[in-house]
Amino acid sequence: MSRILVVEDEPRIASFLKKGLQAHGFITIHVEDGDGGITLALDGEFDLLILDLGLPDRDGMTVLEALRGQGFAKPIILLTARDDLYDKVNGLEAGADDYVTKPFRFEELLARIRARLRSAQTSPKLVKTTLSVGPVMLDLLTRQVQVGGQVVELSAREFILTETFMRHAGQVLSREQLLDLAWGYGYDPGSNIVDVYVGYLRKKLGSDCIETVRGMGYRMVPSEVINAAVS
Ligand code: CA
Repeated sequence: MSRILVVEDEPRIASFLKKGLQAHGFITIHVEDGDGGITLALDGEFDLLILDLGLPDRDGMTVLEALRGQGFAKPIILLTARDDLYDKVNGLEAGADDYVTKPFRFEELLARIRARLRSAQTSPKLVKTTLSVGPVMLDLLTRQVQVGGQVVELSAREFILTETFMRHAGQVLSREQLLDLAWGYGYDPGSNIVDVYVGYLRKKLGSDCIETVRGMGYRMVPSEVINAAVS
């Protein structure tokens, strides 16, 4: 029977989760603050952590970072009150496995929990910390990027933009999507900042690695295509 730790300060949501999870056969322990969550997660025998980002004592993101920093390798699903893409990108970057935006339906969370537990079982203790697309390899822990085995220095924004492209390799991303994912809210959609940064990345990662899709946006070329070009 799987054991789930719920770190959530809102009593109503905590009790909704606890009841639902117990009804589906999970052993559920609830704690309402971040420090308590860290202690319990590191001491306890949990299979999965549900972590609210808005906690009274500390930001849930720092709880996530502390746990991953101390080797907690179990799946972590974030609960976020904000439908904030920047939060989600940061959360996934900091080692979360998934997120659910409040308000959510219990079935949605349950499906994600089951999927995460399944993949944790089939690949035990395998924490994915690198992304690879063609010759580009990005390490999420050391925040280092290599191209063909050579380390490339990227600024923080270039790193986030590279990660965004790699997570969506082969997919066309519009300027608006890239602004949302890599810059967050409040940027003028008419700004050419995305184009400027794509130019930087092409210089650093290789001119072929991001293609322009006319009238639509940009795409990081699928790995097969880059590999075929390299070999
Ligand atoms: Ca909260």
